[in-house]
Parts: sequence; C-alpha cells; structure tokens
Amino acid sequence: QACGMSTGGSFVATGRSILPLLARSLSRRPATNLVAQRADLQTRLVDNIQGLADILAFDRARDQLAHLSVTADDYGRSQKQMALITGMQSGISILLTNLGMWTVLSLSIPMVASGELGGVMLAPLTLLTLASFEAFTPLPFAAQTWNTVREAARRLFEVVDVESVVSDRLTGTKSQASYADIRFEDLSFTYPGTRDPVLKHVTFSLAQGQRIAIVGPSGAGKSTLVNLLLRFWEYSSGEIRMGGRSLHGLDPVQVRESCAVVSQNSYLFNTSIRENLRLASPDLGQADMEAAATAAHIHDFIAPLPQGYDTFIGEQGTRLSGGERQRLAIARALLKNAPILVLDEPTANLDPLTEKEVLDTLFGLMENRTVLLITHRLVGLENMDEILVMDEGRLVERGTHSSLLAQAGLYRRLWDLQNRIIQTL
Ligand code: ATP
Repeated sequence: QACGMSTGGSFVATGRSILPLLARSLSRRPATNLVAQRADLQTRLVDNIQGLADILAFDRARDQLAHLSVTADDYGRSQKQMALITGMQSGISILLTNLGMWTVLSLSIPMVASGELGGVMLAPLTLLTLASFEAFTPLPFAAQTWNTVREAARRLFEVVDVESVVSDRLTGTKSQASYADIRFEDLSFTYPGTRDPVLKHVTFSLAQGQRIAIVGPSGAGKSTLVNLLLRFWEYSSGEIRMGGRSLHGLDPVQVRESCAVVSQNSYLFNTSIRENLRLASPDLGQADMEAAATAAHIHDFIAPLPQGYDTFIGEQGTRLSGGERQRLAIARALLKNAPILVLDEPTANLDPLTEKEVLDTLFGLMENRTVLLITHRLVGLENMDEILVMDEGRLVERGTHSSLLAQAGLYRRLWDLQNRIIQTL
C-alpha cells in the first residue's frame, strides 16, 4: 500500500510538473500577440485623443471608432485565449491536488482499518498532502506570465539597444566653460536613410553678442542647422565649432548648456506653470521665476490667476493661448541663462498682432546675447546684425535687411510675396 501511495503520489507530482511547461507552450503565441496588440491599442488611443479636434472637424469619428474597435477586438480575443489557458491550468491544478489527496486517503483508510496506521494520522496525512501541493500552485501561472514578460522585454530592448547616431564619447577634455560663439565651416549633411543632402557647404560665423537670422523657403534646411548644433544628429562633412572647438570634441550636455532654445513647438508639460519653469533649473526661487516671467511679458497674466504660478496648464499647455504658451517657453529659456539664444520659428502659428508682441519681447531680450533666429516670416529682421538666406540647403545671399532688399534676389522676392499676401488679406 505504501508502494501504491508513492506510485499515486509520483503520478500526481509528474502531472503538476508538466503543467507549467504545458501552460508556457500554449500561451507562447497569445502572449506575444497580447503585448503587441496592447501597445497598438494604446498608441491608437493616444493618437486619437490628441487629434480629437481634427477627427471631429473632418467628421471621421465613426471611422476612427471602427478602427479602434477592430484593434480592441483583437486584443480582447488574445486576452480571452490567455484567460482560457489560465482557467484550464488552474482547473487541472486543483484536480491534481484533489487527486493527490484522494489517493492518499484511499490508500491510508485500509491501513487504518488493518491497524497499520493510527486513525489519528488520517487528518494530518490529508492536510499534509494538500499543503505539499500548495507550493506548486503558482508555477503554471508564472510560466504563462513568463511569455508576456519576455515579449515585453524584447520590445523594450529593441529600443534600448538601438545605437545612438550621436556619439557621447569625448574626443577632447571636458571643460566647465560655456561658449558664446559658433562657426559653421563647409558643413554638408544628409539625413540617415535618405539620398539627397539637405545642407550643402554651409559656412558662416556667429560671434559673441552677434544676432543672425537665417531665413528661406520651407524645407531649405534651416531647422537642420539647429538640430546639428544641438547635437540631435551627427554631421560628418564639414565642421561646427563652439568657442573654437569642434562639436565632436565637446560633451553634448555641455553644448546644450550653452544654448537656450525657443522653438515653434516648445513642449509644455501637463503640470503647473511653476513646474514648467523649473525645467530650466530645479531649485528655482520665486523671485527669479517672476523676474523671467516679467521679462517675457507673461507675469501680468499669471499673477491675477486664482492659483498664480501653481495654475495647471493642461496637456501640452492647451489651457493657454498660443501667445501665452510661447511667452512661457521664452521665460523658461531665459531662466536657463545660457549665452546663446536659439530661436527656431518662435512665432509660428501666431496671429500677426501676437507675433509682433512676442517678437518685441524677444528683441528686448537679445541685448548681450548671441542670437540665432530661424524664421521664414520676414518680420522685425531690421533688428538683426546679419541675415543669411538659405535655399535648397545652400546659403545663397547674406546681408542686412536693407542691403538684401536692394539686391533684388530671393530675399526681395520672399519679402514682396509676403507683403502681397498681407495686402490681399
Ligand atoms: P521649415 O521652414 O518648413 O521648418 P526648414 O528650412 O527648417 O523648413 P528642415 O526642417 O531643416 O527645413 O528640413 C530640410 C529637409 O530635410 C526637408 O526636405 C525635410 O523633409 C528633411 N528632413 C527634416 N528632418 C528629417 C528627418 N528626420 N529625416 C529625413 N529627412 C528630414
């Protein structure tokens, strides 16, 4: 009988050890699908919520909902398959546990009847059997979860393992200095995976305290210059120098510390005005914050708000107007206190009146700063020391506002076109 008990026990134990392997093998495909479909559903949801205004304006809500339902149904199907496997493995698990208990009972009861075993031992034997199986109960579920976790990790490492196009490895020594002058030398650049260069032999210098504007038609390569300067991309032909040193030899963090950037879509976080300004400097005091906001002409808007600097501004600052958002971004850039001010289309998307107000604010702040202004709007450029005109990746003209107007070249054509559009409005 003892032999029978051990045979029955080992049968149940074998069943219990096969169960995790079975759960793992059955859940491999649904687990992989589940992770991919969940990511897809979340991406679509975020995309649709962010683009809700356009979806409604174009009356595409029904189509988008139908697309979302297909993704949600796929996700639901994979969840159901996983739930089925969980249900099956937990059912078999309970069955095996109880089979084990009944095997022990059915073999020990005759032993008690024949006097080989004391009756008092029956209950502990049964409970011991149940308790011994308890340790194995989570194993099949762990094996099933393993597939989901492994797939999620694979997707994560796919992103983490992509090699950065910008090398953080220093070729020179790191210094604490910040730089206030820039020189672009015979710079050419082609985006990885594309054929045609977007910058062709660009050469110009921006001396400390100088104000240069780069203008030109859309797609001329103006923002690419800023992307290379801030080391978002790595250049290989030509040279960019800060403080006389090649950018390749400078730490990207150090380069970015020398530049305060205001772009056409400066990101504002879904938190308070105070926390958004603190992005520039985490231990920012109230006085500094108010001084920067006053200089950016936004303090008078913030101060009367019921919660002042603690007012929440919504996702991407949606509770603010375009002009207020830009002014907040300018205040944040000022708080960085960097010697170089990079303005990449800072007034894009603003109406002409707000544009003028924001530009007046900016021009007032340019004193004693090195300024690189990228724009395709030819407004207020008489305030700049030099204007560079770009077309199809090349510098085609350079001079002051008045000298460029006199040249009757591309700048003059862009100027005339802009004025004609304004007159027809
Ligand atoms: P705009 O005034 O419209 O902002 P721009 O002069 O700033 O234009 P860039 O943004 O520098 O122009 O773009 C120059 C060219 O490089 C464009 O043809 C654009 O399609 C291309 N480009 C920009 N970013 C990338 C990228 N990440 N990958 C591939 N090509 C790109």
